[in-house]
Amino acid sequence: MAEQINNLTFAIIKPDAVRAGHTGKIIDRIIGGGFRIRALKMIQQSRAQAEGFYDVHRSKPFFAGLTEFMSSAPCVVMVLEKDGAVRAWRDLMGATDPAKADEGTIRKEFGASVGENATHGSDSDENAAIEIGYFFNRLEIV
Ligand code: GDP
Repeated sequence: MAEQINNLTFAIIKPDAVRAGHTGKIIDRIIGGGFRIRALKMIQQSRAQAEGFYDVHRSKPFFAGLTEFMSSAPCVVMVLEKDGAVRAWRDLMGATDPAKADEGTIRKEFGASVGENATHGSDSDENAAIEIGYFFNRLEIV
């Protein structure tokens, strides 16, 4: 059966949140939010891998800091399933800047700054498919 791509998104628990011991609490929020975890693994990205992932931000002033941070320590990468998964996961994460994120969101609770904001989520179905393929092969999505 063909996968309905609008039901999947790609998520990262970023190095700051893993380092702080928030992995379990964030996974709990994901499950409590009605997502099904289709794939999950802990990895440490190389600098080149992080640069490839954030290629769209290559010209931004924060690119070097962002890719240094994302490759500095382990992170948890996941494929999440839910109806309208991209929107639903971004709503649960909250705004990019934790200071501007709504109460009750993951970034509000666990994010320290716009750079170290606890989680990543795809911003479109098209990018979700690209990002899932960047970290997972088909056999790892169960
Ligand atoms: P997202 O989709 O909410 O993650 O936000 P973006 O796609 O705009 O940015 C990707 C990531 O780059 C964010 O999650 C932040 O970690 C980082 N970032 C974005 N804007 C800034 C900024 O102005 N300063 C710093 N230091 N990091 C930023």
